[in-house]
Amino acid sequence: MTSILIRGGTLVDGTGSPARAGEDVLLRDGRVAALGAAAGAGADAATEIVDATGRTVMPGLIDAHTHLTFGEPTGNDELFHHRTEAYSSMLSAYNARKVLRAGVTSVLDADCLWNIGVELRDAIESGIVEGPRMRAGGQALMTMLGGTAGRMIADEGRTGYATVVTGRDVMVNEIRRQIKYGVDWIKIMVTGLIPSMKGPEVKVWNIDELRTVCDTAHELNTKVVAHCRNSDSTRDAARAGVDLIYHASYVDDEALEAVVEAGSALCPTFTLLGNLADYGAKIGTAPELLDVFRAEIEVTAKQLAKAHAAGVPFLAGSETGFAVTPVGEWHARELEMFVEYMGMTPMEAIVAATRNGAFAMRAEGELGTLEVGRIADVLVVDGDPLADVRVLQDRERIVEVIKDGRRIDLVTPIPERKQRASDQVRFLAACPLTRSLALTEDDLERLSHV
Ligand SMILES: [Zn+2]
Repeated sequence: MTSILIRGGTLVDGTGSPARAGEDVLLRDGRVAALGAAAGAGADAATEIVDATGRTVMPGLIDAHTHLTFGEPTGNDELFHHRTEAYSSMLSAYNARKVLRAGVTSVLDADCLWNIGVELRDAIESGIVEGPRMRAGGQALMTMLGGTAGRMIADEGRTGYATVVTGRDVMVNEIRRQIKYGVDWIKIMVTGLIPSMKGPEVKVWNIDELRTVCDTAHELNTKVVAHCRNSDSTRDAARAGVDLIYHASYVDDEALEAVVEAGSALCPTFTLLGNLADYGAKIGTAPELLDVFRAEIEVTAKQLAKAHAAGVPFLAGSETGFAVTPVGEWHARELEMFVEYMGMTPMEAIVAATRNGAFAMRAEGELGTLEVGRIADVLVVDGDPLADVRVLQDRERIVEVIKDGRRIDLVTPIPERKQRASDQVRFLAACPLTRSLALTEDDLERLSHV
């Protein structure tokens, strides 16, 4: 019987209803036990008191798009070819703590290296690893054209986070296999970058194949999430019955109509693109790509604002897990992107990252709001996210993280990770070293007279 009374804070309960000043919250045995006057009355001598005067009390954040097993790779080469299963597992466990400390108490980790996401979820639930509550997928289903790693992905079988499914029987069997080993979601990569075509990504599944995936997964009570970085992939994914669509880049009106009609949820995941567009120059991103990424956000957000107005549920996802989106750093940036690019109010952005996220966790009505009976995942924030949602990105301002009714240690330092040498191959040259590049005009001139 553990209980915590969070006293005197301003409650933003995650339902979208207005903030309530001076609303006490009593947590008991991992659940919200009482609110307001009843909370104070329900406390006893053993109740721990958290003073939240002048602070905001809100549900823990739910990041609906993470890759916690990827270990922050700088590129596909590192991710697909220089990792081992055992080291990746340990690295994932190390990183999981950082997620919690950022105020993210739940994540959907839709695809993973090997089956580590599922195992990490279980290790966290068993109490042997500290981390957020997880829902996990296995390796992402691809056609042999899928994803953004081109020919690094073999024509069949498993490579990195991908499993290439050739034909209906292979798809059906792979889904059943993943469910056997414990996935909560099936992830499919509906678009891919085709090496011989100059970007952007194109749809690499036909709708019958997508229907096969959705029908097989749904029959086994498993949901489907799809990476769709163009419009016709978004349209077909919605029509085939995909439950949650990532990106939905460049959606046109026809695709939006399909999403509204099908009742799919959307998780645009602007953060990774936003980090590249805004800060790519600091990390060596090709300069010509920066404007491309910004345009993708702007064009997509303008269309998605219509879907939001039409009542399509939006979830916040950050694509945390790459070098561009290191673990624990950027999860809450998606709320800022929603406000800035889609015109959401801060309250709407908070609802996307709390109540709506419960859909990704397959825990609607259990998680994501601070109402009596709900799971006690709570943040105390030194600041007002309704005035500026960016305060949620500042870990100094997240003064209390409570998961399952237990306070998380935010103080003990996490040792710094050093890069393992064998994670990367040595980089020798960014371009060919021709003689004209190497030698000066004078050298060449002198040599011509020898
Ligand atoms: Zn992703």
